[in-house]
Amino acid sequence: MKKVVVIGGGLSGLAAAWMLQDHDFDVTVLEKEPELGGLASCYNLSGVWIPKTYHHAIGNDQVLLETLDALGIPVTWKEVDVGFNDGTLTYPFKKPTDLLKFKPLSMIQRLRFGWLVLSAIQGWNWPGVHESVESWVTRTAGVQVYLRLVKPLVESYFGAGCSVAARYLANRFHSESASIKQLGHTDFHQLVQKLSENVNCVTGVDVTRINDHRIIGQRNGGLGSITEFYPFDYVVSAIPVPTLARVLPENSLPFVPYRGCVCLMLYFKQKIPGYYWLNVLSNSWKPPFVSIFNCSEFNDLPVIYVVSYLTPHSEEWRITDASRVAESMSWLENMLSVSASDLVSYRVYRNATATPVYSTDYPNLPTQIGERIFLAGTSMIYPNIRMSGTSMQSGFKAAERIMEKEEK
Ligand SMILES: Cc1cc2nc3c(=O)[nH]c(=O)nc-3n(C[C@H](O)[C@H](O)[C@H](O)COP(=O)(O)OP(=O)(O)OC[C@H]3O[C@@H](n4cnc5c(N)ncnc54)[C@H](O)[C@@H]3O)c2cc1C
Repeated sequence: MKKVVVIGGGLSGLAAAWMLQDHDFDVTVLEKEPELGGLASCYNLSGVWIPKTYHHAIGNDQVLLETLDALGIPVTWKEVDVGFNDGTLTYPFKKPTDLLKFKPLSMIQRLRFGWLVLSAIQGWNWPGVHESVESWVTRTAGVQVYLRLVKPLVESYFGAGCSVAARYLANRFHSESASIKQLGHTDFHQLVQKLSENVNCVTGVDVTRINDHRIIGQRNGGLGSITEFYPFDYVVSAIPVPTLARVLPENSLPFVPYRGCVCLMLYFKQKIPGYYWLNVLSNSWKPPFVSIFNCSEFNDLPVIYVVSYLTPHSEEWRITDASRVAESMSWLENMLSVSASDLVSYRVYRNATATPVYSTDYPNLPTQIGERIFLAGTSMIYPNIRMSGTSMQSGFKAAERIMEKEEK
């Protein structure tokens, strides 16, 4: 049996491991955290597993839906309310007629924005390979639509001054058009469990080097750290590209910048009424988050997620958890019917490599390095958008490449 070591126990790595195990490879997954799942890992709240960051299934995420079906994990579809808050008012944003009432834009701008989205969904106005969001939106919907609506949204995800690729946004319109009304609630903890149940998964091992025939990992980090060696015939790397670059003996990989996320899970005394998914339109006001997900809609727990995307290790990133929660609560008190005195507890999840920055000069990454190292993960997804299914697909593709090689 050929030995495959998968580095990274997120959905990409677990998808690759699941497929390879099913094809008689001897698979080991190495995961540096104490538990599997990466960005889709879960907390156990009084016996209920809930994602550390909000996670729902999107209607056209075929790969996720087919995998859930194959594993016998149900999905419940639910109509949800989606809106924008501009600091003064909340505007619903669920159906085409909502756009006609969207006050932050003039009537002409609303129609032009509608045309931008529709033409992306229909594929009539697909942006050029290296075209920026600014150029695509300005030429299609006008500069005011870009400045008032699109620029603040894109910057809140990828940072100010970044030239984000228009294909990313076009794909996002395309995919979210299928999900804006209905979202799927599913058990991500069970997904992680079932993908990994027949695979040898070793958690708490930080891979620090890939040599010719073996991987070196440090267990338990710090002073008491133990060095372990894992021989391989093939490797699937399902870790962020900058991390892979660090563990390779010779770095031949182009640079890919990442944004981190900080996700507050706020647990209240009672359910909070209001939108499931509220986006912040931050032209004139700057709350310390981009979106709010009111998950009590889905799982009956009085939980709200408050999400921000930040440059890892920046000044903002270093704000302590307690200060971030206190500051966010002061904004939420004005936006939702909540009071700080209703907050029972909170947890903060940070991930410094939450998403690659899909910029106009996004590099063409190799699918393999040498004969035996195959790449998967969110960096391999562009120009598709990052979601569970596209991540898992990158893992399936890496597994298929290994299987093809063995068949030759
Ligand atoms: C805030 C947020 C919300 C999201 N919501 C949704 C949603 O609602 N629906 C949806 O479909 N998708 C959603 N996604 C996207 C989805 O979570 C990701 O696409 C997917 O989980 C990425 O999986 P991955 O395996 O590629 O990466 P990761 O989950 O990042 O996995 C990489 C793994 O590698 C491990 N690792 C890193 N370095 C090492 C090392 N040196 N040694 C060993 N292990 C290492 C990490 O600990 C991690 O477990 C969301 C993402 C974010 C950030």
